[in-house]
Amino acid sequence: MHEPLLNRVHELRDLAGVINLATWDQETYLPRKAEAARAAQLSTLQGLYHERLVDPRVGEWLAATPVTTARERALVRVLTRERDRAVRLPSRLVKAIAEAQSLALGAWREARAKQDFRVFQPRLETLVRLRREQADALGHDGERYDALLEGFEPGMRVARLAPVLTSLVARLEPLVTAIEARGPPRDVFAGKQFPGEAQWAFTLEVLEGLGFDLEAGRQDRSIHPFSSGLAATDVRLTTRLREAQPLSAIFGTIHECGHGLYEQGFSPDDARTPLAQAPSMGLHESQSRLWENLVGRSRPFWSFFYPRLVARFPAQLGDVSLDAFLATVNRVERSFVRVEADEVTYNLHVALRFELELGLLRGSIAVADVEAAWNEKTRRLLGLEVTRPTDGVLQDIHWAWGEFGYFPTYALGNLYGATLFAAARRALPTLDADLAAGRPRGLLEWLRQNVHRHGAQFDAEDLVRQVTGQGLRDDDFIAALTARYG
Ligand code: ZN
Repeated sequence: MHEPLLNRVHELRDLAGVINLATWDQETYLPRKAEAARAAQLSTLQGLYHERLVDPRVGEWLAATPVTTARERALVRVLTRERDRAVRLPSRLVKAIAEAQSLALGAWREARAKQDFRVFQPRLETLVRLRREQADALGHDGERYDALLEGFEPGMRVARLAPVLTSLVARLEPLVTAIEARGPPRDVFAGKQFPGEAQWAFTLEVLEGLGFDLEAGRQDRSIHPFSSGLAATDVRLTTRLREAQPLSAIFGTIHECGHGLYEQGFSPDDARTPLAQAPSMGLHESQSRLWENLVGRSRPFWSFFYPRLVARFPAQLGDVSLDAFLATVNRVERSFVRVEADEVTYNLHVALRFELELGLLRGSIAVADVEAAWNEKTRRLLGLEVTRPTDGVLQDIHWAWGEFGYFPTYALGNLYGATLFAAARRALPTLDADLAAGRPRGLLEWLRQNVHRHGAQFDAEDLVRQVTGQGLRDDDFIAALTARYG
């Protein structure tokens, strides 16, 4: 590969790392008064990144560089794809979207405070119009949504995704009904307080136990948990502490740990290149959900960790059995709010958003009608009657950011995660016994070998198919749910 191209590749990744660092800081330690200064710094860095990426010389280098290895070919493919998307967007449109986003965010907050969707509606109309324009600028085969989906899930198309989600919804509904018929389980945390310091210590114990390298990353607190990889040797996780509900921190940590283990597992050979990243948001999410739900909600995992949790909270949990704890951890109920949904009903929330976004992008649903459509779908999919917009159309921040096409990646994460976990289980016959003994390293090693070290070398579905023999499907996910709840 030509040296000038490789140098530029390194420069772009370094800039991306610093942008991630500044963003992480913004969400964790930034002094309140520094908000405007940081926004300006980030805008400058992002402008620099864009300029260095769309530089015409990069296009020439990419077209002319000799490639000898599969990794070099993959690198050229990944960078070309990112650059083509950036080049196709007129800067007028980029600016218009950025402005519309910040106006929409303010309007969304105000609409939430007033419980009135109409406050947000005109801003959302602008964003939908701009995203439709953006989709046309990027190019598509008649399905605008595909052009936006491509930004989060390269290679995925509505025609491939829609039937999978339709099947998933049809298979989830009877399962939810059957679980609900058993009545709600007792909440073993109700009415108790769990001091934050002990929660924090427990989350660190879990991170180390799962194999997260705290010398190549760290955990801090933020309002919304997230993870950010600045390099495979510098992975930042955050979690949040709620004294009345320790599961928030515990499962927040396990989820972000799954993202973090992935980031720490990229090959050192790919450092400072765009191959040291996940091929898609869906595959990234498969790792967080695999650890959070398939490992973190299982009996073997808690056979090891529950006595350790009780040791930190003897007064609160001393008389709570493992069975009662697991019943609380695995509660299933239809609810309004996606981020609070359990692993069974979660995908119904995603399906609802996907149908609405598709309608908005196709023009078959007008923004003025989207609240009514949301409520109607909540009735159909979840059997619930929305009475205030913060439980409905105003609950997620994604549309206020102007993000369309992101929600499906959560469902893809659940499905890919289950398919990968089923394959790991076939390859590791002692997996449950290992988890019960506090030895998850076999699973981590399997994921490192089969998923993490490849980085973005293959598209997500190709990688999953290569590792498991199966592409995108809901069978493994439904089987895992049925095994636990059926
Ligand atoms: Zn996640």
